[in-house]
Amino acid sequence: TDTILELQDVKKYFPIKAGLLQRNVGNVKAVDGINLSVRKGETIGLVGESGCGKSTTGRTIIRLYEPTEGKIIFKGQDITHMPESQLRRTIRKDIQMVFQDPFATLNPRKTIRSIIKEPLITHNLYSGKEREEKVRELMDVVGLNSSFINRYPHEFSGGQRQRIGIARALALNPELIIADEPVSALDVSIQAQVINLMEDLQEEFGLTYIFISHDLSVVRHISDRVGVMYLGKMMELAEKEDLYADPLHPYTQALLSAVPVPRKSNSIKRERIVLKGELPSPSNPPVGCVFHTRCPAATDICRQLVPEFKEVKTGHFVACHLYE
Ligand code: SF4
Ligand code: MG
Repeated sequence: TDTILELQDVKKYFPIKAGLLQRNVGNVKAVDGINLSVRKGETIGLVGESGCGKSTTGRTIIRLYEPTEGKIIFKGQDITHMPESQLRRTIRKDIQMVFQDPFATLNPRKTIRSIIKEPLITHNLYSGKEREEKVRELMDVVGLNSSFINRYPHEFSGGQRQRIGIARALALNPELIIADEPVSALDVSIQAQVINLMEDLQEEFGLTYIFISHDLSVVRHISDRVGVMYLGKMMELAEKEDLYADPLHPYTQALLSAVPVPRKSNSIKRERIVLKGELPSPSNPPVGCVFHTRCPAATDICRQLVPEFKEVKTGHFVACHLYE
């Protein structure tokens, strides 16, 4: 299979500055060594509690942030430190982001026409009448009636606003869409509609998705593979069926034990695993396995050695000493 995106030991640290002189007193290790290979046309779900680095990973891929270390390869090209002028000619079109709260990212004073048209203007695509047609076409593609073209964001429901956000992301014919909690602000019934739309669009345009969510049920629905993150690190990565049926990492096991099992499903009922303690600060992560302060299976080695992220079954990766 074709790899569209590859992350090699990607790190993103944010310096912590303090005092009058704003001296650097440490780092928030938001993303701390992610390895990931994304196949063209698949959906990778990234899950984890807030603060685990999944959003920062997305924003680093799209180069809203420059990685502190590591490498990002997109379609064979190293974009890790690519300057903005060059990014604009390449990945700014090819990789698009859809955000959680479409209302916050849509300019309230602009009509839907100008919101969807904006990326076309920025990238100098089409002209006059063609541009107008493209906007209507995009509205149609995401299921918005083109008679709404002169309306403002506040005149739309949350689900419709997310459709506008998706239309805008599609305007430049991207290949990869990073969706950061795209349905988390929506009612459950609307969530399903937006997810179904995203699946249809994926099929129609051959899109690759990185789908970021804290909601394991949503991720289970849409993903082909799922990666579980904790404190800036990937704890486990596997095909969806494999991950949900046979979670190997104690953190994944705990997360899944908290998900209500749908009535008709044949999944195994799990006993709820309640994690002790608080999520440690990413500015001062535990040494050894970062999960050891909360892990029910932790032993001495866990407090000293960082477990390697490795393939323990075909396509099933885990970072845990229990599997070494
Ligand atoms: Fe738990 Fe140790 Fe595995 Fe970390 S390495 S998840 S602390 S058993
Ligand atoms: Mg799919």
